[in-house]
Amino acid sequence: MGFSTKQIHAGVTPDPLTGSILTPIYQTTTYVQPSVDGYLSKGYTYSRSGNPTVRALELKLTDLEGGVDCSCFGTGMAAVQGVMLAFLNAGDHAIISDVAYGGTYRLCTKVLSRFGVEFTFVDGSNLDEVAAAVRDNTKLFLTETPANPTMKCSDIAGISAIAKKAGAVHAVDNTFLTPYYQRPLELGADVSIYSTTKYMDGHNATVGGAVVSATQEHHEAVRFIQNSTGSIMSPQVAWLTSQGCKTMALRLDAQSANAMAIAEHLEAHPKVEQVCYPGLKSFAQHELASTQASGYGAMLWFEVKGGLAAGKKLMDNIEVFSLAENLGSVESLITHPVTMTHADVEEAERKRVGIIDGLVRVSVGLEDVEDLIEALDEALEQV
Ligand code: PLP
Repeated sequence: MGFSTKQIHAGVTPDPLTGSILTPIYQTTTYVQPSVDGYLSKGYTYSRSGNPTVRALELKLTDLEGGVDCSCFGTGMAAVQGVMLAFLNAGDHAIISDVAYGGTYRLCTKVLSRFGVEFTFVDGSNLDEVAAAVRDNTKLFLTETPANPTMKCSDIAGISAIAKKAGAVHAVDNTFLTPYYQRPLELGADVSIYSTTKYMDGHNATVGGAVVSATQEHHEAVRFIQNSTGSIMSPQVAWLTSQGCKTMALRLDAQSANAMAIAEHLEAHPKVEQVCYPGLKSFAQHELASTQASGYGAMLWFEVKGGLAAGKKLMDNIEVFSLAENLGSVESLITHPVTMTHADVEEAERKRVGIIDGLVRVSVGLEDVEDLIEALDEALEQV
């Protein structure tokens, strides 16, 4: 079956009681057992350990990714944390993309480092640098590609091979492209991580996360941590996310087409210093982005001539786009990572990895592209 058919039907069967075409929201803490000997015979005991509405979404995401199973979490960060706790112990070492969501960087440097885990942040686009960072105690690689916010792309298959040789788990944060455009497990990774808050929900309605595993062993390790820490997704969030997933391919194709048109327009604009979008020929890793994924996604960034001051003026004055964090929804959003999403990354580290002060991040939505371009042109005129 094709992706569009699966995104609608996978994981969903008509409700056995009523025939409801949508899996109901099972708003319950616990499940009555038929007998002591029949304990667990219906598969559910307590909603921290499993809930039918959440399960429907987990089965859908498993099918879309081609994995063996999935665990849905309360947030994308809970999913990242679930993977780290599942595969790292005190004294272990992890190799992380040097450009990653600011929350992932904060979790490593300010939380897990307190428990005796060591981290090395590497340029994931340079396989020699990745291989050189391996130590005897390296147990986990976490690659975010394309990375938030610089869009740097890393070679998933290349890093998976290095991880395999090191006997370590390779996790890929695939939030920006979703399984519709990029399939980390098919490229050799062990788990795919998602902030479902982004393209899976797609409507700025919920916050959630997911981990899809390539093997039962990986899945059970993640599930154990999820149940132990209570990092679960609520049934309402799972229900809304399941509805969002049904149009994911359609939205991504339309939003990516808008992003391409905007990137080309900005690249030719006299007031724009530089534009970064994987679909542009000028993008440093355009070839990798074209071979590793089947689409370029709807995230881009640009720098206005005049740097930070000009960028701030644009962000404060632009119409149609909302100045906000988050990404991946139908509404176009504009973000200043240095003061917003990546404020917790130290200035020296930001500079080292290319998160420049004037970087204006754009999550391109589903509005008419003419309106988006007109809004950008009007805002650029004022700077
Ligand atoms: N991973 C990536 C690539 C992100 O962009 C984000 C949030 O922006 C997260 C993980 C964290 O997800 P959440 O905000 O749902 O916790």
